[in-house]
Amino acid sequence: MTAERRARELIAKAARIVVFTGAGVSAESGIPTFRDALTGLWANYDPEQLATEQGFRANPSLVWDWYAERRRRIADVQPNAAHHAIARLERAKPGLLVVTQNVDGLHQRAGSTDVIELHGNILRVKCLEGCGVVQQGWQDDERSPPRCPRCGAPLRPDVVWFGEYLPESALLRAQQAAADCDLMLVVGTSALVYPAAELPFAAARAGAAVITVNPEPTPVDEIAAARVPGKAAEVLPRLTAL
Ligand code: NAD
Repeated sequence: MTAERRARELIAKAARIVVFTGAGVSAESGIPTFRDALTGLWANYDPEQLATEQGFRANPSLVWDWYAERRRRIADVQPNAAHHAIARLERAKPGLLVVTQNVDGLHQRAGSTDVIELHGNILRVKCLEGCGVVQQGWQDDERSPPRCPRCGAPLRPDVVWFGEYLPESALLRAQQAAADCDLMLVVGTSALVYPAAELPFAAARAGAAVITVNPEPTPVDEIAAARVPGKAAEVLPRLTAL
């Protein structure tokens, strides 16, 4: 049996599905991976300057500008056939949960209703000093961070920067879902960034079947019941046509 046929059968018979996604699911929407985005004006910077709290404190305008550019890019693109296939699958399999490492909001724009964002969302901001303010809209002069309406500290992107913990409730719910699902579909993630990358292994240990969709090999392939090589936007519509 081909891996693709096996994957289709596993999806068809699964009752509790978790779809775990990474940057690859958004690649065909035209969103570059973090490192691929460090081009042009940004080629002289490294991730420590642009995606850490120390970097933000050292040069808030620079980091704000970098995120403003990435937000503009996201606003200009559309969910692709992979995001749409996942949203359609949720309608066929009620209770399906998406756990994503992406910060672009494209799953929700495609119609997925239950999405855990392990690494935050670039369209939100929160108070740098942690006074509790989190908000979606703000007065924007694009070049410098707006101020927290409660305490006056700078607002920062509500994403998980290098060296930071994942949002606890999101991680706990994702871990619980991994332990409870009967199928985990792992799409477009290198599965190298921990603790998120642990989820497919936890699902397999708890008895779930794991399917990987990725043009490149990943460490999850070792435990996968089916490894389907290829681009998410091409493979997923075929796998999920039940
Ligand atoms: P990654 O960059 O480490 O890995 C991307 C994976 O996608 C690779 O394994 C690659 O082979 C695969 N891939 C590339 N094109 C694909 C396609 N068309 N279809 C399917 N797979 C494809 O990304 P990651 O595993 O998500 O981890 C990196 C971190 O970067 C995450 O923490 C994430 O938060 C962040 N990030 C998010 C976005 C976004 O929101 N869109 C973009 C870049 C990075």
